[in-house]
Amino acid sequence: MRVSWNVMRWLLVLLAAATMGCHSATTRQTFDAEAAYAHVVAQCDIGFRYSGSDAGWATGDYIRAELEKQGVAVTMQVFEYAPNAQATPVRLRNVIGKIAPAEVRAAPLVILGAHYDTRRYADGDPDPQARATPVLGANDGGSGVAVLLELARVLDRDRLQNEVWLAFFDAEDQGRIGDWSWAVGASYMARHLEVRPDYVIIVDMVGDQQQEICWEHNSDAALQAHLWQIAADLGYESSFVPRVKHSIMDDHIPFIQQGLVAVDIIDLDYPYWHTTQDTPDKVAPESLRRVGHVLQTLLEERPFSAR
Ligand SMILES: [Zn+2]
Repeated sequence: MRVSWNVMRWLLVLLAAATMGCHSATTRQTFDAEAAYAHVVAQCDIGFRYSGSDAGWATGDYIRAELEKQGVAVTMQVFEYAPNAQATPVRLRNVIGKIAPAEVRAAPLVILGAHYDTRRYADGDPDPQARATPVLGANDGGSGVAVLLELARVLDRDRLQNEVWLAFFDAEDQGRIGDWSWAVGASYMARHLEVRPDYVIIVDMVGDQQQEICWEHNSDAALQAHLWQIAADLGYESSFVPRVKHSIMDDHIPFIQQGLVAVDIIDLDYPYWHTTQDTPDKVAPESLRRVGHVLQTLLEERPFSAR
């Protein structure tokens, strides 16, 4: 068989174009443990970040600034909440960063969420005197935000298979204080969604040094299995344990109530939960990195479809 040089040349050009088109030549960013941990410290430096506090509001500003630094478009969802008819309404806000994949196509939307408020009272503290003090929330609040902010930096827009929203919720953690409900911010977002996401993943309390993240009872089984398989393939099977342990009221519940597929990545076995001892020294940078690495791998290499 004879192939003319002209035809051959064209084939080579096409081959080269196809190869280059797959992945751009940019260096891949890997999820950095210390960069994520720096976000934990920075949030704790702001202060006690319970909903309605100045520090809480400043944390929303911090998140917005960090997202914009990474070129992420930010929407602020501001609303008022009154826990009962007599209470003065409190101004709350969710911060939502929107990352579009580089390739223009109908990419299904995925939401990753974390609460940024911290609990107003350390009502789990072993010392009764300390229970009137707020929680600093290095892990409970700080760790989930840190993972999402570092993902905003490292996610490769050329590799994304989904449009990704990073949602930072106000007022997850004030439940049962006065008449406050749990997951107020996530509930507001879930009820006001104009686009139906393919699935939702919540990241909460993932920074424990003795990290052991089990399946959560209310979470979607197929998506959990997929995530925990990625973790096992990355060598994190001691941190991601594929067995149901707890049933948890968290920011995933309002999305499940809207009929959506949602998973809560949470390590509830944290000795400093809702105590004054939930401080940055209790958070391990490596624990943040493992969770970030699993999520980056999901979004860039091992996409999940709930459809
Ligand atoms: Zn909490």
